[in-house]
Formats: sequence, structure tokens, C-alpha cells
Amino acid sequence: MLRPKLGQHFLVKGAILERIAAAACPSRENLVIEIGPGRGALTERLLQRADRVVAVEVDPYLVAHLRARFAGDPRLQVVHADVLEAGLAQWGRAPVVGNLPYYITSPILEMTAALDLPRAVFLIQKEVADRLVARPGTRDYGFLTVRMAVFAETRLCFQVKPSAFHPPPKVDSAVVLLQPRRLDLDIADPTRFLEFVGHCFRHKRKTLRNNLAEVYGKDRVEAWPEGKLRAEQLSLGQFADLFRRLAQPE
Ligand code: SAM
Repeated sequence: MLRPKLGQHFLVKGAILERIAAAACPSRENLVIEIGPGRGALTERLLQRADRVVAVEVDPYLVAHLRARFAGDPRLQVVHADVLEAGLAQWGRAPVVGNLPYYITSPILEMTAALDLPRAVFLIQKEVADRLVARPGTRDYGFLTVRMAVFAETRLCFQVKPSAFHPPPKVDSAVVLLQPRRLDLDIADPTRFLEFVGHCFRHKRKTLRNNLAEVYGKDRVEAWPEGKLRAEQLSLGQFADLFRRLAQPE
């Protein structure tokens, strides 16, 4: 029984499954965590590249299917849970991979940014992938781009057509690789920094001056030469510079 509300679009192209597994486990891993294993198409490939797989699936029918299908393989732990509530950190530092349920792509990306992990490989909507890897000054560049860039280097690996799935989704998809990094942005409070970036992008077409005046006071913002710019023109480094000057307490 298919449950479209749970974003159930199963990958049926072996070559694509193989490429995702290889991106998640370029060399042998002790453990890999899979989000939304479905019927186990990707899980099977991951088990060839890792000593253990923890697979978190919310649909009880699929959990039962997986437990029956892989009954002879103790290296797979099927966890029946909502991935957003499962607490992935409990399994320690491990790559995270999944053909994601698209209705919760953003909260999964947000959750991933809070984890300590070597890499994440996600199959997501192409439109979201474009936003993740966008360059400043382009249409797709926005809060999500900067938010994820603080946490990781993002790379678009390859695109996936709807025909690679059953049933086919209505949109094109793409595989992205997120590689966490420690940037020295000289920012004491990353949460406040991201709040600041959020304010900058509040109305995308407005200037920074207009977006920030309400929050930081008109006088302070008026005196600032870059105020005429729009958020979409600034790189991560420029946001950090601005935050230190404008919003971070001395
Ligand atoms: N990995 C499989 C494949 O590639 O064929 C299935 C991918 S399908 C796009 C997404 C999977 O995520 C489905 O199995 C769905 O039941 C599961 N899922 C949906 N919401 C979830 C949630 N909140 N937590 C865990 N899994 C979820």
C-alpha cells in the first residue's frame, strides 16, 4: 500500500541507487544512517559498503516489510520512528543518507545541520538542491543557502529524472552532498548570526537598510554604506562582516 502523503516515491534505477550509495560511502564505513528506507532498495546497496546500517522509517507497513526482507542480516537495524524525533545523534558520528520524503526536506536539512557527521547525501527536489548550491547574486540564493553554508560545503552531485522513481514525482530531483566544515567567521553566537541573516532576507526585494531598520534602529542602519544592497548580493563572509559591525554587541 502506497502512502503518497509520506512522500513515497521509490527509486527503481539500479545505477542511481549505486551512485547514491557510493557518494555516501566512498570507502568502507563502520556505520551509515539511512532516512526513509522504504522497501530497502538503497539499504541493500548500503549494506554492501558499511558494516552496519541504521534505517529510520515511519511507515509501520514498510518497517514490517524491511524486517522480513532483511531478517537474516543482523547488520541492519530498522528503527520505527519519525526521523525528526528519532535523535540521530544517539548512533554517534556516521554518514547520513536518504532519498528524502520531500514534504519534510527543510526540517531534515535543519536537523542535519545540528549533527556532528562526516557527510550527508540526500536525494531532494532539484529546486531545493539549486537553492543549496546557489551563488550570491543569483535568483536561487537565499536564507537556506547561507544557513546551510554555515554548516557545510554543499555540492550538487547529479540530477535524477522522475522516471527513475515509482511512482514518478511531479518534479525533477537531484542528489546533493553536504560536507560539514568549521569556518572561522569570528562569530560568538551562531544562532544570533542566523537570526540576523534571516532579518536581512525578510523581504528579498528590499534593501538591507529597509529590512534591518526595524530591528536595529534606523539611525544605526542609515549610517552604513552597504545599506543600499540587497541580501541576495552578499556572500557568507560579507554577512559575517556585517553582523560583527552592526549586530554583535561590543
Ligand atoms: N529509500 C526508498 C527508495 O529510495 O526507494 C524510499 C524513499 S521515499 C522518497 C521516502 C521514504 O521516507 C518512504 O519510505 C516514507 O515512508 C519515509 N518517510 C516519510 N516520512 C518519514 C518520517 N517522518 N520519518 C522517517 N521516514 C519517513
